[in-house]
Amino acid sequence: MTVPAPPAPVTPLCAALRQLREAGEQLGLDNAVVEALARPHQEVTVHFPVPSTDSGMATFTGHRVQHNLARGPGKGGIRYAPDVDLDEVKALAMWMTWKSALLDIPFGGAKGGVAFDPAGRSSHELEAITRAFTHAISRFIGPELDIPAPDVGTDERTMAWMMDAYARSTGQLAPAVVTGKPLVLGGSHGRANATSDGVGVVTLAALAAAGRRPRDGVSAAVQGFGKVGSGLARLYVDAGIAVRLISDRYGAIRNDAGIDVPALQDHVTRAGTVVGFDKADAIEPDSVLTADVTIVVPAAVEGVITAANATAVSAELVIEAANGPTTPEADAILRRRGTTVVPDILANSGGVLVSYFEWVQARQRERWSAERVDRQLRERVLAAWDHVSGQSGKTRTLRQAATAIAVRRVAEAQRLRGLI
Ligand code: NAD
Repeated sequence: MTVPAPPAPVTPLCAALRQLREAGEQLGLDNAVVEALARPHQEVTVHFPVPSTDSGMATFTGHRVQHNLARGPGKGGIRYAPDVDLDEVKALAMWMTWKSALLDIPFGGAKGGVAFDPAGRSSHELEAITRAFTHAISRFIGPELDIPAPDVGTDERTMAWMMDAYARSTGQLAPAVVTGKPLVLGGSHGRANATSDGVGVVTLAALAAAGRRPRDGVSAAVQGFGKVGSGLARLYVDAGIAVRLISDRYGAIRNDAGIDVPALQDHVTRAGTVVGFDKADAIEPDSVLTADVTIVVPAAVEGVITAANATAVSAELVIEAANGPTTPEADAILRRRGTTVVPDILANSGGVLVSYFEWVQARQRERWSAERVDRQLRERVLAAWDHVSGQSGKTRTLRQAATAIAVRRVAEAQRLRGLI
């Protein structure tokens, strides 16, 4: 007897297109409109050689996709990871379009990435790769065209190199070409923690809506301990939420009394991974998403909550700090089981929001105080939460409501501009 092949994994692009089609049905949009929104405005793939210490020269492949520019210039991060491919970047760019529209930021959606593993690369190599990639895409980005930011595997240092490489390639010193820059180069107060701060605001709102208070025995598991996951874990601990499980790409740890997050951060700075932290037990990484906690936060990569593990998710709340962590099948299972899923385009919108604040500051040659950034972040994320939760309910999940609000705004902008 032949064993049937396992079902093909749902790719991020399939998931994004299904969400769009569902929103189109809900809104009663014409098929032609949905088709126009399904396709990126522009997708660019570049291959560029970079001098390498061991092999003399290595050729890299990168992508930049502008999904939709109807509401403003493209906005979205640059990812460095071995499995980056054009379809993944297309999906991430589409989610950026909906996120900007949901937060009512005058940006479209874009995303980019280079397919390589930055772990273990010297600063010199990372700089050379970043400069060569920026040069290769310099005709397609710009402060009024498409504005990159950090994402998985990139950070404020990458943005400083991008800004400088863009200036050398185009002759324009334009700090607004990227966001997530260091403060001294025109970065914004609050940008480094903006994504995790926004996830924190949404978490407290979702807990309040469920009649829960963070200090009343609420616990959490966080997948990913990078820029977003580590900031969020610190914030949860400060709010009185016990963070019991944390994982990264190398392994996972558990401490039911609550992980000492500052001590873990020191360990990760030294060791490069949560593995080996002596104040917690080593556990199976997969168990983080199905742990017996109140809140599960995927804060790493796409497609981690699937039909295969969704029935084992026992948390009351899934807060999507990562982009696209839940497949459509898993979403349906979680809905049937009564789990509340706070969707990525709402949960992690603090990042693009403060990127927008940084862009405004760069355009106006101004510097906002940390208090002003924090207040406006809270106000706008909470306004989006209120809008989305007001439109969801028995017949619509938070994701369906959020996607419908965003798609409606983008379709309207396209129509008014005569693009469809
Ligand atoms: P990062 O590179 O700083 O950290 C990623 C973390 O995830 C690392 O700890 C890594 O070890 C871990 N990881 C990778 N693969 C994993 C796996 N299979 N299982 C468990 N852990 C794994 O990236 P980041 O900026 O923190 O981004 C995390 C997520 O948040 C991504 O989905 C990103 O698109 C999303 N996001 C980031 C921002 C931002 O401002 N950085 C904004 C919005 C959304």
